[in-house]
Amino acid sequence: MGIITDILKDIPLSAVLRERLIDQEKTMATLEAENLALKNENSDLKALVENLRQEIQQTKDIQKDKSHNTSFKMQLGCLLFAGDKRLYCPSCFHKGGNKIETSRVDHHNRYCAVCKTKIPSG
Ligand SMILES: [Zn+2]
Repeated sequence: MGIITDILKDIPLSAVLRERLIDQEKTMATLEAENLALKNENSDLKALVENLRQEIQQTKDIQKDKSHNTSFKMQLGCLLFAGDKRLYCPSCFHKGGNKIETSRVDHHNRYCAVCKTKIPSG
């Protein structure tokens, strides 16, 4: 085996290596493109998650406000809402969601000026 044989032996090997290298470069380009697409998708998903997180928080806040406004108990025939010492007409609230404050008529009755209802309170 002389040096020429060695060189000739190396030529086909180089061709195979070159071919493999080209294949590897193609694979690398494909992977880079996929990676870029995934990065963009990841960025979009992060933005989506952030939007959803804000929407969930807003929904929770609204829910909290609603439950705060609608958590009530009955007192003297009227509605007494949490954090509010005034008495409201149950009829107006249940029919239209309106909080109409009642006034005292006498020891046994309160009155709603909107629906003109006399509410027994004693
Ligand atoms: Zn009323």
